[in-house]
Amino acid sequence: MLLEDIRFLVTQDEERRILTDVDLLVEDGRIDEIGEDLSAPGERIDCSGKAVMPGLVNSHTHAAMTVFRGVSDSKLLQGWLEEEILPREDRLEGEDIYFGTLMGIAEMLLTGTTCFNDMYLMEGEVARAVDHAGVRAVLSYGMTDEHGMREPLEEVERLITGYKDHDLIEPAVGPHAPYTCSTEFLRKAGETAEEHDVPLHIHLSETEEENERILEAEGKTPAEYLDSLGLLGPRTVAAHCTHLNGADIEILEERGAGVAHNPAANLKLGSGIAPVPGLEGVDVGLGTDGMASNNNHNLFEEMKFASLVQKLEDPREMSAQKVLDMATIDGARVLGLEDRIGSLEEGKRADILTVELSSPELSPVNKPEDLISHLVFSFSGNVSDTMVEGDLKVRDGELTELDIDEIRGEVEDRRGRIDGESA
Ligand SMILES: [Zn+2]
Repeated sequence: MLLEDIRFLVTQDEERRILTDVDLLVEDGRIDEIGEDLSAPGERIDCSGKAVMPGLVNSHTHAAMTVFRGVSDSKLLQGWLEEEILPREDRLEGEDIYFGTLMGIAEMLLTGTTCFNDMYLMEGEVARAVDHAGVRAVLSYGMTDEHGMREPLEEVERLITGYKDHDLIEPAVGPHAPYTCSTEFLRKAGETAEEHDVPLHIHLSETEEENERILEAEGKTPAEYLDSLGLLGPRTVAAHCTHLNGADIEILEERGAGVAHNPAANLKLGSGIAPVPGLEGVDVGLGTDGMASNNNHNLFEEMKFASLVQKLEDPREMSAQKVLDMATIDGARVLGLEDRIGSLEEGKRADILTVELSSPELSPVNKPEDLISHLVFSFSGNVSDTMVEGDLKVRDGELTELDIDEIRGEVEDRRGRIDGESA
């Protein structure tokens, strides 16, 4: 497939080059060549009025929670979790998770996300949905042994051995959080991730209350505590990190752990704001978190939030380019996928989105710098085309494979059942 006459190609390469009037050739799911006047047989997309950029990377979400969108909009995290979410999660069936995930994936594809890092219950159902939709994902069971052992480590081993050779799925280990897992369980989870050499995905220092609980129980901050158990390293993806002190940041830097920043969910649950400008030596990606605390999967919107929450303190912080990096190449690095995705360069996988530039919200765009600002601060996120591994999943703003009416019907029925039982 040839993307031809691209008006702006946002490469997100080392020099953050934006090329104009070039072609991009996709072959065998990879970016084969970028250059002028390329020719190739097969399908062509006229990109003379479009920006072409890397597919976005959502570094922390719980896609199946799309089925809970909007259940509670005005509670603190602890009440939200214990009164609204956990009782509903107890009633979830496998198919609820499958269709909830498909709805989340549909939304992600329509807003340009091609890869997401997920943690949830019955993650095998999430994997089935990801495989069906043909998107890229890092998948882990959200494990806890405090609310009853919800996902035993044998299930995790099954996910890892079942998907370790899959083209698009990276299995991972996901102990839910320092406050929902026992010390011994956390240690075992860390050993499992190390043994299989897969990512370790965990919530960390999401709220002040979490910090106080861990400090009281362990005499350490959550970051110090996880570090003492050997859980912080280059394979770690630590979600939130809204309450880190200077010593915690040094630990993350030294260990090479990555952070997934979720500004919308942190604002909505009143959890706090991660000190992103202070995390210069740490890889930081961008996540939406689940749909009961955001409430959408639109990473364009998330980029704007990530910038604005820091600009309140200092408007010179968090440029459009910086947050675009977080949603692309930096997010890929957090997930250990930077050799494959996150930028548009020859040899990388063809995870690509295109944006039609004729809409008023993207005008005027006279030079490349205008474009990056518009994409972050003005664009709604409704992309024109989305490609994963060379396959077009969205074409001219429409899903090419997923049947959105069927998925919506299933999700509405299932939500009705789940809410009905909670009345
Ligand atoms: Zn989360």
